[in-house]
Amino acid sequence: MAAPQTANNYRATVRMYRQGLGDCFLIRLPRQDGGKDFFVMIDCGVIQGTPNAAGKMADVLDDIAKETGGEVDLLLATHEHWDHLSGFVQAEESLKKLTFKEVWLAWTEDPEDKQAQALVARRTKALAALQATQARLHLSGEEKAAAEVASLVEFFGAARRGTSTKDALEKVRKLAPDGLRYCAPEDAPTKFEGVDARFYVLGPPRDPKLLRKTLPSKGAEGYGMDRVQFLLDSVAPCLDASGGNPFSPMWTIPVTAAQTMPFFRERYWSDRPGVASPDAWRRIDGAWLEGSTEMALQLDSETNNTSLVLAIELGDQSVLLFAADAQVGSWLSWQNLEWGKDPNRVTGPDLLKRTRLYKVGHHGSHNATLREMGLEQMPKLQVAFLSVNKDMAMSKKWNRMPLEDLVRELTKKTGDFVVRSDFPLPAGASATTETNELYHEVCLP
Ligand SMILES: [Zn+2]
Repeated sequence: MAAPQTANNYRATVRMYRQGLGDCFLIRLPRQDGGKDFFVMIDCGVIQGTPNAAGKMADVLDDIAKETGGEVDLLLATHEHWDHLSGFVQAEESLKKLTFKEVWLAWTEDPEDKQAQALVARRTKALAALQATQARLHLSGEEKAAAEVASLVEFFGAARRGTSTKDALEKVRKLAPDGLRYCAPEDAPTKFEGVDARFYVLGPPRDPKLLRKTLPSKGAEGYGMDRVQFLLDSVAPCLDASGGNPFSPMWTIPVTAAQTMPFFRERYWSDRPGVASPDAWRRIDGAWLEGSTEMALQLDSETNNTSLVLAIELGDQSVLLFAADAQVGSWLSWQNLEWGKDPNRVTGPDLLKRTRLYKVGHHGSHNATLREMGLEQMPKLQVAFLSVNKDMAMSKKWNRMPLEDLVRELTKKTGDFVVRSDFPLPAGASATTETNELYHEVCLP
């Protein structure tokens, strides 16, 4: 065990599990009176398509039960994506070994909040439309596009058959019936009795424009086309409940089947390579669904941007920043945050300036760590945790996850102390770092 059992000779330990592409963190904070350590757990999931996912998540939860003695003081479920929530439904037996005193979700999941209700409705409708789109693309023989949409839609779990992220989130809500809280950046920082730390909520932002802003703008503040709205307004009405086919299945021959039938093949396709049939244009296929991938991508990014972002300020004022999968708009909003009054006023930039440990946003992707409004404001950064799995990302064609430029910059800034879940420890890792197949853990003095 890396963490010494006597209080006050360390400030925190941070354990990152290595289950694959997904997040699960366990933070240990000593009690000032030497009592039982305070444990914070953030997320518990792994991407769809991970081999033996349920077994891996069970191992993670079993370890957390062992480490905490079965009691987690605070659980955060940052946002509604499978790679952050799957463990709650995949490893139910192991989950039963744990109790949770408090559960924190972002305000965007609060069923009593009007703005959140609208967001959830938009997400639910868009997701249903995308599932119909995917089925329609499949029917039209547009397999590549169908697969692309599928890989993005599956961030919400197997919504069509079986368990979805909605189920996982419902489960999480019930884990601490008396200690469920919806968090927003306007909330005052939280202190827990006997723990020398302050918890600040940085995101998701309340500003609808920033909440929707997932990409850096080029030049003037433009927010780009609202592809999710386009999907809802223009594509969804053309997709009926049967999967978007305007004709009953009784009168339908799937495109892939038609291609093998001489009558259709002669007229609408051509047997000569490179020569299109003169009637090819008559085919009604998936062309009108062009852009579905971009729509699915935007929906995923918007959901990432509802991430609950947490800054833990330790007793020496150094900060551990857990950015979940926050995107550009959330990062920008931190610049204007402030809590308390002078001389005790703390601002978002103050917290960045004192950040010592950074959980890299969205598995190191290009739009989840800002440069000027982010990394360049963290002169004291000592260690970065990057939860990623390059092979899995490549197999999903997310070729820039993690972004090499970002990894290089983090490596330089931390003196080669970027802890990656898919790699062994880097050369610059401190001596108090522990590692095995299940996790990497850093002990912060
Ligand atoms: Zn994620």
